[in-house]
Amino acid sequence: MNSSAVDDLFAELEMSYATGNIYYQTISAVLEAAQLVGISHREQLILAQPKNELMVHFPVRMDNGSYQLFKGYRVQHNNVAGPYKGGIRYHEDVYLDDIKSLAVLMTMKCALMRLPFGGAKGGLKLNPREVSQDELMRITRRFTAALGANIGPDYDIPAPDMGSNAQIMAWMADTYINFAEINNKVEARSVVTGKPLAFGGSAGREKATGQGVVDVLEVLTPGMGLTLSTCSYSVIGYGNVGSWTARLLSAKGAKLRAVLDHRGAIFHAKGLDAEALAIHVRETGSVVDFKGAKVISEEEFYACEVDMLIPAALEQMIHEGNASLINCKVLVEAANAPVTPEGEELLVARGVTILPAILCNAGGVTVSYFEWKQNRQSEQWDEETVDRRLKRIMTDAAHRVQQVAEKYECSLRIASYASAVEHLKEIYELRGIFP
Ligand code: NAD
Repeated sequence: MNSSAVDDLFAELEMSYATGNIYYQTISAVLEAAQLVGISHREQLILAQPKNELMVHFPVRMDNGSYQLFKGYRVQHNNVAGPYKGGIRYHEDVYLDDIKSLAVLMTMKCALMRLPFGGAKGGLKLNPREVSQDELMRITRRFTAALGANIGPDYDIPAPDMGSNAQIMAWMADTYINFAEINNKVEARSVVTGKPLAFGGSAGREKATGQGVVDVLEVLTPGMGLTLSTCSYSVIGYGNVGSWTARLLSAKGAKLRAVLDHRGAIFHAKGLDAEALAIHVRETGSVVDFKGAKVISEEEFYACEVDMLIPAALEQMIHEGNASLINCKVLVEAANAPVTPEGEELLVARGVTILPAILCNAGGVTVSYFEWKQNRQSEQWDEETVDRRLKRIMTDAAHRVQQVAEKYECSLRIASYASAVEHLKEIYELRGIFP
């Protein structure tokens, strides 16, 4: 959809955004796909704005006795396919428009994977490294209380995202359970996913997003002339997604050449040891100072020649300012929205294939779905079962995106949105409008 049509749609909704705004960019791409699919104007209006945008402010007593005010967000974009689902990010730079975009992407991701969920996202404006564990627990519990009945196992189910983790999910679930009806305490823990294994978590959830990236690459890379056992790659971000993707790829023989994180970049011509690097990051908080690796600049990192570049950190890290430095054949979006439209244009012009985020990183939400299902059925699946079911869902979705790209003769990104929109359109048409 061209930008004036997107502007007209936003004007009808009394919304206005700059063209560089991340929400504007996300909706523009979704609407471009929606136009290929041919959805109604009414459905376009529904997709162009979230159903609910919640912002909460709450005080917390800090360790030194002072009180600090915190700001949290929960955006619920769409629930036509099922309860809202999406992570909660803990980061000092979270803003409403970022959370709105990520909520849209969750709607698209769940629809593409054909999961019975809608899309949501949350955020807490906080650097979790700057507070103690006790403070983190009190902040999380107060945030959960502030969200109140806006979350729930049948309504909206948060999960971890950047800066949050299984322990934080355990505190969220425990807080929610304390408010739950007396005869509903067991089921209440399925209010969040990504919990620790001992408290209703799923086997395989921690590595699920990285596992899903590898499952997708196994389907798509042969058609691109790449072999996972011999190819080289670099990674931006070595947290949950980056480090698991790297460990699983390296186990297949792929060579990790370079890594960039929030503190700097490292390189090794013969390949970095992905497992040892994960331990180093757990102990020191960053990839810098990893034994035997060469320290390189950010520019050198981007210019490093590799078969695959895998961004697994923040949004919009690849843009017109650095896209022309990049020297890879395939860009694998393990992070959400890591490439701006201007960056994408430069990469595509140079023949780089972009594998879209809503497909590549959907392993996390898929195993979250497995966790929710196990909680509700009081079951515990083993890791082999989880991996097998995940692989089937990821493989089916990767084939679906390929087929839709051929059908509409479009990029894999637009194809991934188009496949999601086809599914949502079908549900809207089956459900009709109440009353
Ligand atoms: P994480 O907090 O575990 O790790 C984030 C990584 O990004 C860290 O290594 C950090 O050093 C790095 N980073 C932060 N700022 C940076 C900067 N300015 N430059 C370079 N590196 C920087 O987060 P995560 O869970 O791995 O999530 C990473 C991305 O993947 C996010 O976009 C998230 O939304 C997305 N994602 C995560 C999951 C999941 O299951 N965790 C699922 C789907 C998508």
